[in-house]
Amino acid sequence: MVGAGIVGLAAASRLLDAGWRVTVLADRPTAASTSHLAAAVWFPTRADPRDRVLAWGAATFAELADQARRGVPGVLMRESLALYREDPGTPWWAAAVPDLRPARPDELPAGYAHGLRFAVPLVEMPVHLPWLTDDLLARGAGFVTHRLDRLDDAPSVTGGPDLVVAAPGLSARELVPDAAVVPVRGQIVRVTNPGLTLSVRDEGHPGGRAYVHPRTDDVILGGTLDEGVWDATPDPATEAAIVARCTDLVPELAHAAVLGSVAGLRPARPTVRLERGTLADGTPVVHDYGHGGSGITLSWGCADEVVRRSAGP
Ligand SMILES: Cc1cc2nc3c(=O)[nH]c(=O)nc-3n(C[C@H](O)[C@H](O)[C@H](O)COP(=O)(O)OP(=O)(O)OC[C@H]3O[C@@H](n4cnc5c(N)ncnc54)[C@H](O)[C@@H]3O)c2cc1C
Repeated sequence: MVGAGIVGLAAASRLLDAGWRVTVLADRPTAASTSHLAAAVWFPTRADPRDRVLAWGAATFAELADQARRGVPGVLMRESLALYREDPGTPWWAAAVPDLRPARPDELPAGYAHGLRFAVPLVEMPVHLPWLTDDLLARGAGFVTHRLDRLDDAPSVTGGPDLVVAAPGLSARELVPDAAVVPVRGQIVRVTNPGLTLSVRDEGHPGGRAYVHPRTDDVILGGTLDEGVWDATPDPATEAAIVARCTDLVPELAHAAVLGSVAGLRPARPTVRLERGTLADGTPVVHDYGHGGSGITLSWGCADEVVRRSAGP
């Protein structure tokens, strides 16, 4: 397994379930991955094609909802309100979300005529990813820290495996190489939680997309979708704008203190690449990258498909 972000770790878990011996190879700790900093709420964003995204997203929703029920660390269900100025109709992703309903007028903040209510999984990654890593270790997976220059080198580094799974996120651009992979920068702001328990989002806010995701000890405010931007330095003016438009949505945030801002590069591609191929030395490879703003949303559904593809084309 090349990659120890959520996509690689979920696939490693499913491959262990299927009886494979698994070695996970990554060039840095998972705490330094894009997956670690993500808001990590189930919601399909900047990922295609829709038919496959819907199927992977539905499978991931079901898996994460089950993990939340079982008390898997960091995984919880979050009641949510999506706000719209125009009637949204039935969103294309609705079939993956049980119990979606129109918001009642008394549930809408001033200025909004429409809303949808639903509960979705939210994963507190700084809690969950260390747990998932320990779980894989306990089930016999090996972890190797090594920077690959070419995906074709993976078999020699890992001792001639029967299969390589490529989940290197944005690095697929150089590693595979695959020029279709591009960064979509996102900045989010962490603030203290003034007692919020409801996720609220307005993807069409005139100031830019706005979302408020309460976690156990803080709230994540977002966000931006900056196509093709490689600079992952948080910008103070963007931070102020995010806080202002999120406070529009949720006025209680006026009492929250900013804890910090982070920016990350989503690994985007016109379509997620999940297919089987062959490396230069003939080793079969299953590519699993290009999840854009939906790596958590699609992780377990994609992992199931990796297992199916591990058995043959
Ligand atoms: C601000 C922000 C908010 C987000 N919010 C959400 C959200 O709410 N919901 C959602 O579903 N998604 C969200 N995302 C998107 C999500 O974070 C990504 O889609 C996801 O993290 C991609 O996971 P990955 O495992 O493919 O990549 P990564 O997490 O980037 O992991 C890549 C792995 O590959 C390894 N690697 C890379 N290059 C090499 C190399 N040369 N040699 C060896 N190893 C290598 C790395 O060490 C790492 O382990 C958000 C992203 C951002 C930036």
